[in-house]
Amino acid sequence: MAPIKITGLILKKTDFRETSVILNILTEHYGKIAGILKGARNPKKKISPLTYSQGSYIEMIIYMKKISGLDLITQPFLRKYYDFENEKKIFWEKILFSVNSLIPQERIDTESMFSLLIKSGEMLTDIKNLPIFELAFQEKILTFLGFGPFLYKCVQCGNSNTLKFFSGKKGGVLCKQCGQTEPSAFAISESSIEIMRFIDKISYEKILIIKSFPENIYNSIKKCFDSIIAYHISEKKFL
Ligand SMILES: [Zn+2]
Repeated sequence: MAPIKITGLILKKTDFRETSVILNILTEHYGKIAGILKGARNPKKKISPLTYSQGSYIEMIIYMKKISGLDLITQPFLRKYYDFENEKKIFWEKILFSVNSLIPQERIDTESMFSLLIKSGEMLTDIKNLPIFELAFQEKILTFLGFGPFLYKCVQCGNSNTLKFFSGKKGGVLCKQCGQTEPSAFAISESSIEIMRFIDKISYEKILIIKSFPENIYNSIKKCFDSIIAYHISEKKFL
């Protein structure tokens, strides 16, 4: 296959043999790839370590699947390195880890996920309330993966009235009647549902304008997302 020029964000870097590195990259248009950059750590090659660091947004030429399942990466060029400190650095690394574990390698339509990651990198500098940003990121990635949260009708009977329960197993809200008979369901307030709908509807960038939620609502929404993750996805793969 002919070499192609692609852009992507490095989710994970693993040193390989003497001087090479293996990179897991979420590309803009070609899904998630794993590729080898040969001799990257050889000082004679004069490749800046930032061009193959976790969290770097790079341009590169790749030859698809040349070496035992790995794409061959050449000519990496650094577009941007997202540099954070302290809790923002930890948060950024968690995001990259989650995306790497959750997005399967064969998946092709990663454009929206890629855009979400780049936006997260851009927004993180200005974020005041990290826990709310984390909720918003979880909501977007769960939606991207198709796990919900489904918030507008009872996920069991389709009724849109008396929505008073949530089930991670079912992936969304339940009406009073269905909720009472579903063992995995727990009660949730109307205002928590409203705020989840708000997070779902507003554009990701607008998350910056939310200063805070009441703590009980924050906890309740977190419980909803955690219950989806616990039921459908291994917790080890997530934030
Ligand atoms: Zn129902």
